[in-house]
Amino acid sequence: MKAQDAELAAWLKTNPAFVLGVTGSRGWTRRSSVWVPLTRMLRHHRRLVVRNGKARRGADRHVSDWAERFPDHLVLEDPHPADWGRHGNQAGFLRNQEMVDAGMDALMAWALPCEKKAPWCPPGEHPTHGTFDCVEKARAAGIPIHFSPEGMSW
Ligand SMILES: [Zn+2]
Repeated sequence: MKAQDAELAAWLKTNPAFVLGVTGSRGWTRRSSVWVPLTRMLRHHRRLVVRNGKARRGADRHVSDWAERFPDHLVLEDPHPADWGRHGNQAGFLRNQEMVDAGMDALMAWALPCEKKAPWCPPGEHPTHGTFDCVEKARAAGIPIHFSPEGMSW
């Protein structure tokens, strides 16, 4: 189910759940490194709301594919796609703030090194920009971050 805000609020009232934000690089290919920790989280917390930016490729996609395998009362996905048409290059960053502002109990991150070599890239090896931004915003809000050990962490 793709919950709207009101639906989600109503659902959470009767189904207290751990709210897990997810962020990750679009080039992330290894599904098992996404599915295994999510399954562990679900076992531990019994119910999850998964707040996902819903990129079509990479980590977000693996998260969605995983979430769809469970009934809503166990795993409810709360999608926050970026509005690229309206906000252009800033859409992902605005979306990240929106995800964080909605509140979450933890953020899980699957971060690959950026390979863009764009003029605005910082020097040296650094994570993909959207994932970096989401982690930084969550951290600034005091949200615990879980990095995949198969990716970058900072
Ligand atoms: Zn870069």
